[in-house]
Amino acid sequence: MPTQLRTLTPEPTTLSDETLRDFRAEFRGSVIGPLDSEYEQACVVQNGAFRGRPGLVLRCHGTADVVDAVELARRSRLLVTVRGGGHSVAGHSSCEGGLLIDLSGMRAVTVDPQRGVVRAQGGATWGDVDRESQLFGLAVPGGIVSTTGVGGLTLGGGIGWLHRAYGLACDNLRAVELVTADGRVVHADDEHYPELMWGLRGGGGNFGIVTAFEFDAHPLGPTVMDSTVIYDADDAETLLRRWRDWADTVPDEVTTRALFWTMPADPTLPPELHNRDVFILAALYAGDVASGQRVLEPIARFGTPVADLSAPTPYRLAQSSFDVFFPRGELLSYWKSIYLDELTDDAVELVLRRSRQRPHPLTMVHLPLLGGAMKRVDAAATAFGDRKAGYMLSVDGNWLEPSDSARVTEWVRDTVAEAATLPAAAGTYLNFSGDTEVDDAVRRAAFGTNLRRLTRLKTEYDPDNLFRSNSNIPPE
Ligand SMILES: Cc1cc2nc3c(=O)[nH]c(=O)nc-3n(C[C@H](O)[C@H](O)[C@H](O)COP(=O)(O)OP(=O)(O)OC[C@H]3O[C@@H](n4cnc5c(N)ncnc54)[C@H](O)[C@@H]3O)c2cc1C
Repeated sequence: MPTQLRTLTPEPTTLSDETLRDFRAEFRGSVIGPLDSEYEQACVVQNGAFRGRPGLVLRCHGTADVVDAVELARRSRLLVTVRGGGHSVAGHSSCEGGLLIDLSGMRAVTVDPQRGVVRAQGGATWGDVDRESQLFGLAVPGGIVSTTGVGGLTLGGGIGWLHRAYGLACDNLRAVELVTADGRVVHADDEHYPELMWGLRGGGGNFGIVTAFEFDAHPLGPTVMDSTVIYDADDAETLLRRWRDWADTVPDEVTTRALFWTMPADPTLPPELHNRDVFILAALYAGDVASGQRVLEPIARFGTPVADLSAPTPYRLAQSSFDVFFPRGELLSYWKSIYLDELTDDAVELVLRRSRQRPHPLTMVHLPLLGGAMKRVDAAATAFGDRKAGYMLSVDGNWLEPSDSARVTEWVRDTVAEAATLPAAAGTYLNFSGDTEVDDAVRRAAFGTNLRRLTRLKTEYDPDNLFRSNSNIPPE
């Protein structure tokens, strides 16, 4: 049956049976259409608010498949979406009626322990990377949920548990293999295609499809000191200030975050935590366990915890301890973030007040400490842009029923709009943005003075904006 697909113009196009038969003859991965048994599963993405129904899914098996997929898209001017780990908060993991180039069949990771280099295919997750690299006592800075894709997280920056010790994920990216919009395969590093390399360190999925990422890895683990201290939310007023005063002084080995949340009634959690509004202080020490125990010990003494889950922990377990709270496809999410130069008293007041009004138990107010190695990289050195902020305020709207969508989304928007009026507020992190479309003001808030250079790069590599289903930087 001929396949109808959306294009870059308002008119859809039809791929004939003959075109698809010729395509399948070479393609090694799976070609999945709406009538195929795998289709419904292929539509499941992390953010349940954006379960799109693509016209055709091409689940690639290798770089040659990605080249063929791009060629098909180019010839028929198809609307293209690229999926890595499928965690886009902004709905860029899927599309309605277009061509989905799905990299989830490309998750291999290899480690070169002599060079301290980890190579991950374009659809790998951070769990895949940690599993292989920890065999050699190595770690690459990633995110805090192991099912998140290496692709979107790295190309957009990448904050996690190691950004203060070793920089953002994109700062540790040393080389890529990339398929361009005109179907070429390019190997880029700081010597070959240095401008492209600059743009891939934070400029998102605008410049091509990365089929392999090569990272610098760092000795870490297998056991690290991981602290999670859970307090009652009623005590947060004093505790947030104590944490801020402590966080402002910690060494770079420490990455820490404060979270406001309602604990789910999960059977794996102690019953006294069920459905309780909590203020969580979490931290990881990127170094030896004994030093970590000493340095992180104060966070359990800021008040009287409801539970203290701090312990020397296998690094891989620390990297996946939040996974259970983010079941794929079940949560509906709208997040928005803003950088804060400092966690000033007026910022503390706003965070406390807004956290008390969270519109849904699953909605989270998340304050990661930034700085450290991440901050020592000059704003112009990577596309990511300015790194002077000491903190980020990420307002993570999560809920379950579509009937709550408008209410939670509005609350997230209002909270961040209010935070934007704080004197310490500056810029936004696009990986934590639920907005499908970004305008020039948002692009400027994310990339600052790097935006002009990014626009030139986009014009060079993707003048027709084939890769537009992302936090888009339109060509000139
Ligand atoms: C539960 C959860 C936890 C998160 N935790 C963190 C965190 O700790 N730190 C953090 O920084 N961010 C975090 N994020 C945000 C995350 O970084 C972004 O949502 C990111 O886009 C996810 O990447 P992905 O590959 O999984 O997503 P996808 O939806 O697969 O991809 C998103 C977009 O990235 C681009 N892309 C992905 N792979 C490739 C590739 N190989 N080549 C070219 N373009 C590609 C495409 O434009 C694609 O549309 C989290 C998100 C969620 C939902």
